[in-house]
Amino acid sequence: MHRLALPVLMISWLLTGCAVNPVTGKNELSFVTEAQELSIGREQYLPSQQSQGGLYQVDPELNHYVNDVGMRIAIVSDRQLPYEFVVINNSVPNAWALPGGKIAVNRGLLLKLGNEAELAAVLSHEIVHAAARHGAKLMQRGVILQGAITATTIGVSDSDYGNYIVGGAQLGGQLLKQRYGRTAELESDYYGIQYMAKAGYDPMAAISLQQTFVELSAVEDSNWLAGLFSSHPPSKERVDKNRATVAALSPQLRTDFELGVDRYRKQIAYLKQKQAAYNAFDQANTLAANNELDSALGLVNKAIHEEPAEPRFYGLKADIYFEKKQYRLANAYYDQALKLDPEYFEYYLGRGLSMSKLGQYDAAKRDLQYSNKLLPTAIAMNALGQLSLAADDSRSAKNYFQNAMNARGEIGARARDAFTRLDLPDNPARYISAKAYLIDDALVATVSNRTSLTIARFDVTFAVTVNGDNIQRTVSLGPLRAGQRLQAASGFRFSDDDLVENLRVGITGAKL
Ligand SMILES: [Zn+2]
Repeated sequence: MHRLALPVLMISWLLTGCAVNPVTGKNELSFVTEAQELSIGREQYLPSQQSQGGLYQVDPELNHYVNDVGMRIAIVSDRQLPYEFVVINNSVPNAWALPGGKIAVNRGLLLKLGNEAELAAVLSHEIVHAAARHGAKLMQRGVILQGAITATTIGVSDSDYGNYIVGGAQLGGQLLKQRYGRTAELESDYYGIQYMAKAGYDPMAAISLQQTFVELSAVEDSNWLAGLFSSHPPSKERVDKNRATVAALSPQLRTDFELGVDRYRKQIAYLKQKQAAYNAFDQANTLAANNELDSALGLVNKAIHEEPAEPRFYGLKADIYFEKKQYRLANAYYDQALKLDPEYFEYYLGRGLSMSKLGQYDAAKRDLQYSNKLLPTAIAMNALGQLSLAADDSRSAKNYFQNAMNARGEIGARARDAFTRLDLPDNPARYISAKAYLIDDALVATVSNRTSLTIARFDVTFAVTVNGDNIQRTVSLGPLRAGQRLQAASGFRFSDDDLVENLRVGITGAKL
């Protein structure tokens, strides 16, 4: 998808050019079409949800409620889009919008809000991001596309897998972590207040919400910094502007606004009741990441005791047993997690890795492929590459490693090495560079190993035209260590009377 994106955008730009922004009414350059915005939202919504922790499903009523509040505002907005609102199973206080009106709010943010009108303020703000084309404008500025071929780090994710998204789903990852900029944030605040007021919500809630954010940002809390604050920095300026915006609202809007305090309390009561379980889960996650597996296990068991219906808890328990190399137990807990939520990639990824440790390669392959369908990751691609290698299918192994090798860190490096091993015998010239020249009437070449592997043997083929005749010779050399450069002699020597033209050299064979 990324390879196509740039030419498609360029062509549309030639065709469209200027358009009126549906929210601000301003004329602006517009070469991401509405159809493109809609397709980005459609294609990126599910993988973006997955990369952020998946849907919060234990209390489906809460999801309906958030969607209802969102739709109440969406219908009075300036742009009709296929809006959707979901609750993400993530403790980081955050909310985001993709182009095309696909919006999400984290479980962790809901707990910080005091009433329905504050939720309405959050959602209206995100609605404006989508309606006023803020994501599309980022793409137009090239902010998104530039990095699109490298793997994405998702700053707001509490999952390690966020670092390893590959393929088309990276676009969503980039849109999520990108800041829209000060102008866009103030625009979202301003029109968001208009929308929530039109929908009947007390716009004062936009001010109390910002005040809460400013207060919370003063307290050092890495969760807040990683979440909403990184994409939506709170400031006194925003509070003051919101105050002015509310004061200037037209008088006919100032009737029976509602805050919805009781309704909101009722709707988040269940989540609040289970907050201790999620705190234990978050701590267990941190401990597991630091390899303190037994303490992590203790806390995740506590979380399960307090909320036996949450699949993430069993998923983490399975991850911990996987790290302890107890693969059968890990599988049992992945199964339990999948029974509660059969559409979250991490359980398939974990079970696939665990199955392959147990030698159950077909089952492993099925799980890893399904995990990639939900959210393509370099981890699954690498594991599938290894399975293909074991099955002597080097063509598909190459394909999987190629998909994983742009990822950061160790996973990417491992995939690059595995790909090089497979590809080097077929395309040696990609990995060994060679340049021919004459020294004292002898034809030589500088060759260098551009890989991080030792190359055992390689063939250097020299060709040259002498007095009108083409001559050629191949020399076999090796080993050549990672990064090593050496001078290769062709064995051809010429006299002063020879007319030497057309020096050529190529790497025509190599093996590791
Ligand atoms: Zn914003």
